[in-house]
Amino acid sequence: MDDYLLIRKAGRRRLSLKIDEEGRAVVVAPLWVPKRTVDEFVASNARFIERRRESEKLVAREAERLGAYTEEDIKRLKKVAREKLSAAVPKFAEALGVKYNRITVRYQKTKWGSCSSAGNLNFNFLLADMPEEVLEAVAAHEVCHLKNMNHGAAFYRDLDKICPWHKSARKWLKEEGSVYHRRYGMYLSGGVRGE
Ligand SMILES: [Zn+2]
Repeated sequence: MDDYLLIRKAGRRRLSLKIDEEGRAVVVAPLWVPKRTVDEFVASNARFIERRRESEKLVAREAERLGAYTEEDIKRLKKVAREKLSAAVPKFAEALGVKYNRITVRYQKTKWGSCSSAGNLNFNFLLADMPEEVLEAVAAHEVCHLKNMNHGAAFYRDLDKICPWHKSARKWLKEEGSVYHRRYGMYLSGGVRGE
């Protein structure tokens, strides 16, 4: 049996599985599920665990090669992100005929951008270190939320119109984004900069 970390939580109704940054399998289980059932669940997901571990390893290796972000990097990225997004957002907002309120940049682990019902747009400043089209696609995505709060057909019609390359940008983020998060994590934990 593969090693895994078991977390039991009241109120959970089913088993869930994820791989953490150290490549360890973490299972969250309801209180009542027997250990044996959890073992079987982990065993039946062995291939998924192996695949996720491999990709975590690649991310870690690439992040180490590029090195942790430094204090100066972060300052520069925040500044550049504000500049680039202050140019991209009005451009897309005008193309779509919508108004926005405020643009802020900060770090978020789970989102590249977000849009509040008050019309405030928030972006992850790590976007400033990515290809221009990726930053623009995230800006366009959030601008579309000013008109459509969900991801329905109308949302994607608007996004296709103002940012025809959004799908390839999304794919890029899915494949490459974790390396940026990892390098920021290394900065937070005081990692040393690579070559
Ligand atoms: Zn969205």
